[in-house]
Amino acid sequence: MMQDIEEVLFTERQIAVIVERIGKEISRDYRGKNLLLVSVLKGSVVFMADLMRSIDIPARIDFMATSSYGSGVKTSGVVKIVKDLDIELEGYDIVIVEDILDSGKTLSYLLDILQSRGPRSIRICTLFDKPERREVDVQATYTGAEIPDAFIVGYGLDYDEKYRNLPFVGILKPSVYETAGA
Ligand code: 5GP
Repeated sequence: MMQDIEEVLFTERQIAVIVERIGKEISRDYRGKNLLLVSVLKGSVVFMADLMRSIDIPARIDFMATSSYGSGVKTSGVVKIVKDLDIELEGYDIVIVEDILDSGKTLSYLLDILQSRGPRSIRICTLFDKPERREVDVQATYTGAEIPDAFIVGYGLDYDEKYRNLPFVGILKPSVYETAGA
């Protein structure tokens, strides 16, 4: 897998520091509240696993999965819920845990859906943000790091379902997806 990586953007250690910091922020802000962490599968699964263990207040977790029809490296904006939450949201203070905020289309759609189910509050936590790619006005309350407009993989993030198990985050060589015709 390493031969497909152009550059390592965040090492395992650097990610750990970021996740620890966000965990502290959420613990501080949600003390005494009814925190529910909602992880958006599959990309945020590694982040979720680390983040929840860096939160030192009671927290429930749930998962949902979306699919969006698009080419290999871009979201089309047509989002579909593939797996819905198990928990009813009324009375919960929700933090949506996402891997990366890109055009904003996925999160804007999810926010609308979850908001309509009557939670007490709802905020977004994203490990990475590509602000220059935004097409829809969505903002995260908790952001790990802003990154440039490049396609990244690792730490849960995939290309064609591969590279999720890399412990670091790196930029994928464009030749990998260009040759795949994406
Ligand atoms: P948006 O709807 O904000 O355009 O797209 C968000 C989703 O697109 C992310 O949750 C992620 O699944 C995918 N995505 C956006 N940028 C990247 C990237 O650089 N690498 C990977 N692996 N996925 C990305």
